[in-house]
Amino acid sequence: MRTPRSRLARWFAALLLAATTAHAAEDAAVLARAVAPDVWFVQGAAALGSAANRNFISNDGLVVTGDGVVVVDALGSPALAEALIAEIRRVTPQPIRYLIVTHYHADHIYGLQAFKAAGATIVAHGAGREYLGSDTARQRLEASRQTLAPWIDEKTLLVAADRWLDAPLTTLKVGGMDFHIRHAGPAHTVEDLVVHVPQREALFAGDLVFQGRIPFVGQADSQQWIASLTQLLDAKARVVIPGHGPVSTEPAADLALTRDYLLHLRQAMGEAARNLEPFDEAYAKTDWSRFERLPLFKVANRMNAYNTYLLMEQQGPR
Ligand SMILES: [Zn+2]
Repeated sequence: MRTPRSRLARWFAALLLAATTAHAAEDAAVLARAVAPDVWFVQGAAALGSAANRNFISNDGLVVTGDGVVVVDALGSPALAEALIAEIRRVTPQPIRYLIVTHYHADHIYGLQAFKAAGATIVAHGAGREYLGSDTARQRLEASRQTLAPWIDEKTLLVAADRWLDAPLTTLKVGGMDFHIRHAGPAHTVEDLVVHVPQREALFAGDLVFQGRIPFVGQADSQQWIASLTQLLDAKARVVIPGHGPVSTEPAADLALTRDYLLHLRQAMGEAARNLEPFDEAYAKTDWSRFERLPLFKVANRMNAYNTYLLMEQQGPR
């Protein structure tokens, strides 16, 4: 199933135009937008999860093939996932065949049970098993049942994959399209997966790419993350669907933003850790001007810097 080059080119030209006028998701409606032939995108808000936004803070992507739909990520609550399934029904009569989990973070997985009920085969990287069995996962769900009620409640469950992938690269063939599912972790998480669909020049990057906003670094291995971003640039995709923020049609520039931010954190905090400089002083004197206007800078940057400071203390100069 080949799409003529010119058709793709027209699509990307139109998308580029749309991207310059698009707004961030302003309301909480789950709307699928075509971003390439047969490729659809749903954008969550650039915000923290809350009861008011139903935990709609992450993106979702889907590909409609001639033999069923492949969905990437499950959104942040069962209600959102059900809204997404209704949206898929609006787009195509094809059954939902697969749901690929890019990583087991709450905002990407709390909708899984709805996709399972809809008949999708859940696919995730094998390292997700460890997280699912951990106290962290259980405690996080407990906390979410408080903070995200009524969207996350006693009926919300952690859902294991039907197929755990343990190989570095698995290719799923569905309806004449290839889904190259690559293990990109440990980066944002140990179990990070990215999905490349060469026939559509589309790349689903999960939380390796926080398009247009400050990422949450958390306990991530930022060095491996930087290496994975460099690898993503090699996939030569024309459209990159990130885990958060708008679609990227200029992957080189946009992937570079996340990468440069991580490099900047490591450089500044690495130097401070090496010089045994207290964190507060190092943070205050670091030049953040290149990043401070990005969404979520105020919420995330200090914590990211602190986590990186601890990581650099631990890792020492590498
Ligand atoms: Zn996320």
